[in-house]
Amino acid sequence: MSKFWSPAIRSLVPYTPGEQPKVLNLIKLNTNENPYPPAPGVTDVIREFDTSRLRLYPDPDASILKQGLAEYHNIDKSQVFVGNGSDEVLALAFMAFFRHGTPLLMPETTYSFYEVYCDLFNIDADKIPLNANFEINLDDYTSENTGIIFANPNAPTGIAITLDEIETLLKRNTETLVLVDEAYVDFGANSAIALINQYPNLLVSHTFSKSRSLAGMRVGCAFGHPDLIAGLERVKNSFNSYPLDMLAIASATESLKDETYFQTTCRRIQSTREQVSNELNNLGFNVLPSAANFIFASHPNYDAKELMQYLRDKNILVRHFTRAGIDQFLRITIGTDAEMSELITALKTHIH
Ligand SMILES: *Cc1c(COP(=O)(O)O)cnc(C)c1O
Repeated sequence: MSKFWSPAIRSLVPYTPGEQPKVLNLIKLNTNENPYPPAPGVTDVIREFDTSRLRLYPDPDASILKQGLAEYHNIDKSQVFVGNGSDEVLALAFMAFFRHGTPLLMPETTYSFYEVYCDLFNIDADKIPLNANFEINLDDYTSENTGIIFANPNAPTGIAITLDEIETLLKRNTETLVLVDEAYVDFGANSAIALINQYPNLLVSHTFSKSRSLAGMRVGCAFGHPDLIAGLERVKNSFNSYPLDMLAIASATESLKDETYFQTTCRRIQSTREQVSNELNNLGFNVLPSAANFIFASHPNYDAKELMQYLRDKNILVRHFTRAGIDQFLRITIGTDAEMSELITALKTHIH
């Protein structure tokens, strides 16, 4: 605390990202990164990049990336927004759409950055509990609101809901924005991008960090009605004209071109996920049904925090949240088969 801090920042509780250890040789299953490298073409693009171009500013519109995303999703470029990671895209969306004075509806258990943005932008949050199976029930999202946000698949549960459920919500909630955060959609859920032409209040966010292995590049995007995209552009251009650097624009654009690699790595993670879920079940864990690149699991006889510490001592990092209701769960990112078999081996020597 310092007297130089503005009053508004004194009470902030910032988001705590998972640990990024400085030492190597850890099995890192704590921040939902992809265990596989980005598409091979990305390496070529970076290697061949003409560094003399770096004296220039990048394209403020990142047009080539927007165009690539528009073609990939079969929509118009005017329906595409890009930003410095989807965290930034979400922050800009909160600023642009969620400050009408009524509360923002969100799941009680979800990506914890949402409440941080509420805090930062002075937005009231109405947190709706998950049902007994840790699922989002959109029928509960009926009160007056400034907007609605949820992740699908949800974090950190990994559980997905159907497009029918989302469409039912959109038919009922027509006067405020519905933001669907699809950071993990490529690992087994259906994208609500299919609905943006019908629902002008639907915004869908994606990231290149998880399914496209580009967390280090910081690229996120959003899809919706051109008027929504124009709103995001207004806020973006009132804050930072150049959120994406040249290498990020080039790498992300290239990664969209290799569909075979993308599908292969996503399917590999899904199949590892199913195998690890079975093995954890056999060890007595309760594993929530995941459509993401992580699993959320608890054990009736072992304290989650102690398990996390035990694994840490074995150089295996997993994520534990202290929040009531989920503090007996571990969130385990799906790594390579070799990494996951080390995890299972370590657990087998501990759990009897
Ligand atoms: C990882 C994640 C993000 C942020 O992704 P970036 O593009 O890396 O900023 C957003 N939402 C959810 C639910 C996530 O898990």
